[in-house]
Amino acid sequence: MSDNIEGKVIVITGASSGLGEATARHLAEQGATVVLGARRAERIDTIAKELTDQGHKALAVTTDVTRRDQVAALVDKAVETFGRIDVMLNNAGLMPLAPLERLKIDEWDRMVDVNVKGVLYGIAAALPHMKRQKSGHIINVSSVYGHKVAPGAAVYCGTKHAVRAISEGLRQEVKPYDIRTTVISPGAVATELLDHISEEDIAKGVREHVAEIAVPALSFARMVAFAVSQPAEVDVNEILFRPTSQPV
Ligand code: NDP
Repeated sequence: MSDNIEGKVIVITGASSGLGEATARHLAEQGATVVLGARRAERIDTIAKELTDQGHKALAVTTDVTRRDQVAALVDKAVETFGRIDVMLNNAGLMPLAPLERLKIDEWDRMVDVNVKGVLYGIAAALPHMKRQKSGHIINVSSVYGHKVAPGAAVYCGTKHAVRAISEGLRQEVKPYDIRTTVISPGAVATELLDHISEEDIAKGVREHVAEIAVPALSFARMVAFAVSQPAEVDVNEILFRPTSQPV
């Protein structure tokens, strides 16, 4: 149990694996009520059941973040069931890396739809409730690639730079409502993120590099817990972290 986390209602997109799953488990263990959204229903149902069986509070709502109505339904379900939403963690994302000249245009569309529009839909779903409550905390997930650009990652970097720009604009706009905003930019963390790189030559190189340096998903969950656990008058706006051994 932890002060300023216990009892908070925390909605997490992309909660079926990786950073989202680790955060749901970590915050539930600290006494938060977690509402898990993702497309893989049986994964989030199983996680929510495991947490509930351990005496924690958790609810799973099948959600595709590219569907505005489904993101609204996720947040509305949290508010309907638990009476409020304290934290919206817009975490769902994908990183199918490839150089632009390979013209993986469907993948560009998906990255924009999930990594950018999915975050916007999460903000749209949470903001009216948080304005009404005059409290809340929106946490968006960017990346080290939201701070730099590398060949083969142009579109992904574009989406993650966009997340930082949107988060900064949000920060400036929601001051009148006492809403906090945080953007978290992780370096290499061991998750399923690399499984969705369709270009095998690129996937192989990235996997070998990441396998050497990646830190566990709990490292990210601890960053979320740090931001959430601050007293209401303290707004942690940005966290950038890397494995100690990650050079760039
Ligand atoms: P994972 O692939 O393990 O998790 C991605 C999550 O996003 C899954 O739960 C997946 O759920 C969900 N997701 C994907 N598409 C959709 C969709 N259309 N609707 C709802 N959920 C969706 O990777 P990570 O945990 O690493 O990724 C989480 C975030 O962290 C991403 O935004 C990623 O860009 C970011 N990040 C990760 C880093 C790392 O090194 N791991 C570094 C920097 C940033 P499902 O398939 O069930 O829908």
